[in-house]
Amino acid sequence: MNQVEQQKHTHTHEGVCPTCGSYTRFDFLGEQRWPPRVAEKLGLSPVMFLWTCGNCQTTISQPVSDTQ
Ligand SMILES: [Zn+2]
Repeated sequence: MNQVEQQKHTHTHEGVCPTCGSYTRFDFLGEQRWPPRVAEKLGLSPVMFLWTCGNCQTTISQPVSDTQ
């Protein structure tokens, strides 16, 4: 019955927002994929996770590099 609620809860994480400086909860928005050439040019990870700050609603991009 509560599967949807549980899935929502797994798509959040807590941390310090670089925009407002508050320790708050971030909601997972989705992932953003850059074309390899663009990522290389900008020095970014080809895959970025997008989070929304629960305090100031700013969208944060987080590079996905832990998985190589
Ligand atoms: Zn914030």
